[in-house]
Amino acid sequence: MYEIMVNRKFSAAHNLREYHGQCENLHGHNWKVEIIVRIKDLDQTGLALDFKFLKKSADEILKGLDHQYLNELPYFQDLNPTSENIAKFIFNRLTNEFNDEKIKVARVSIWESEDSCASYFEE
Ligand SMILES: [Zn+2]
Repeated sequence: MYEIMVNRKFSAAHNLREYHGQCENLHGHNWKVEIIVRIKDLDQTGLALDFKFLKKSADEILKGLDHQYLNELPYFQDLNPTSENIAKFIFNRLTNEFNDEKIKVARVSIWESEDSCASYFEE
């Protein structure tokens, strides 16, 4: 089994509904997105998955989040835009695009600061 990982970034605002604390106020993050994909076999070149395909797809997804007020996006209308829910949102989008018998999106981690991260994966 091989694993490849790419890191991407986006900036956005959110507020956490019913948090009952500072995060209920509108604020922003420079989020770091860490994506890990598992691949069974290498291709003829010796590559598991060309990084550029993963980066391109990730960037397409993140384009919809970058410089947005996340609470106003349809997906987060009733769902709090926490790092956990953002991780799942990106995971599901990538899974739809990449998963097959050889490739599996393994984990999406969302860093909302240098020392705080939430991940989503499926067993
Ligand atoms: Zn926040």
